[in-house]
Amino acid sequence: MDSVISHLKSNFNTYLEELKEYLRIKSISTLDANRSDMIKCADFVADKLRHAGMSRVEIFQTARHPIVYGEWLGQPGKPTVLIYGHYDVQPVDPLDLWHSDPFEPVIHDEKIWARGANDNKGQNYVHIKSVDAYFKTLGTLPLNVKFLFEGEEEIGSESLTSFLKTHQELLKCDSVLVSDTSMYGRGIPTITYGLRGLLYMEVEMTGPDKDLHSGSFGGAVANPINELAKLISKLHDKNGKITVPNFYNGVQKLSKAEKENFKRLKFSENAYAKEVGVKKLHGEKGFTTLEKLWTRPTLDCNGIIGGFTEIGAKTVLPSKAKAKISMRLVPNQDPLKIAKDFAKYVKSLVPQSVKLDVKMLHYGYPAVVPFGSKALNAGAKATAKAYGKKTVFTREGGSISIVVDFIKNLKAPVVLMGFGLDSDDIHSPNEHFLLENFEKGLYASAYFLDEFSKA
Ligand SMILES: [Zn+2]
Repeated sequence: MDSVISHLKSNFNTYLEELKEYLRIKSISTLDANRSDMIKCADFVADKLRHAGMSRVEIFQTARHPIVYGEWLGQPGKPTVLIYGHYDVQPVDPLDLWHSDPFEPVIHDEKIWARGANDNKGQNYVHIKSVDAYFKTLGTLPLNVKFLFEGEEEIGSESLTSFLKTHQELLKCDSVLVSDTSMYGRGIPTITYGLRGLLYMEVEMTGPDKDLHSGSFGGAVANPINELAKLISKLHDKNGKITVPNFYNGVQKLSKAEKENFKRLKFSENAYAKEVGVKKLHGEKGFTTLEKLWTRPTLDCNGIIGGFTEIGAKTVLPSKAKAKISMRLVPNQDPLKIAKDFAKYVKSLVPQSVKLDVKMLHYGYPAVVPFGSKALNAGAKATAKAYGKKTVFTREGGSISIVVDFIKNLKAPVVLMGFGLDSDDIHSPNEHFLLENFEKGLYASAYFLDEFSKA
């Protein structure tokens, strides 16, 4: 193990040069103009996988951008880890806000600056090199490794989603390792183990069949905006609980271990309130802010449309009003079941003087890897060794749909071992990645292979 780490250490500058080469490829998945760059980038990854010692490397064509697969299965009886990454990047506009060319990586202030430096080339390249280091020093790996790189993460992972369904045997594994999330803070090794799901609904209320004069008709005819506002206000009770029937069915209490872990994160409610620019925080009674953000379901009105919204006054009694309402969900909530309960419930709340139409826009399932599982513990040990500090476990309030698909199709725990920082400006001008995290990422990856082989 020591020889692997010292090999990684002494080759750091070479890896950095290779990463630069990777970053120079303009693999913007959403733009047709970059189609050939996508192919070039898939070839680059395949080449590096071959070079790193993978015994089989294959590029799978898809309806859009290629999927790169690599494997080395020379340790029968030992666990198999599937390492996921994405080689596509976000567009770079507005270009004039970049301090340097987004596709000509530069190094200053202890960071590497380029589109994709963090998301996701910098973060995924560490795994290729850690495997490479094992072969160069020990001539073998402590377990079986599969690599899976897609080129559509930034545009919804459509090809990979169907690939996962049709290639379950090929991708069979005991854990999935993903480095595409953030650390809790600089220098704090972090493993993320939970993501919330989402249910997005739209409700449209109709009163009179056309807009009316509010003087001539107001008072006798229901105003859909007034009624919609009343409806929205009924979706939470005075304790901040969501009133949709059966909504909390199956929602689990936090385990003692998780609660204690959250305490160790020393989250400052005051600093957070300041950061988001509010006088006081808000929400469901009986839960801390971190618990509310990561472990509790929510319901929010995201938009409301109706009536006269131009400058000035118009005395109108509108015919229609619409609201977009989304819910963040936690394990074991089923978005499709909640969509039905929600529709039935909101319809029951409106008076007969208006009509309500309810539509589901989209949904995604929540995912949590059991706290204390072998894969998570191996991830925590690995990152702790790399950073020389105890690892913290976090959950995320948002959703990563591909992670849920991994869990569903491969029935394997996903370890989100992020090396990015929230301040790395991913998707923005001047994206960067801390060299320290690139380096520690290499070590953490190598330690993970060792730890998980013993798990
Ligand atoms: Zn991204």
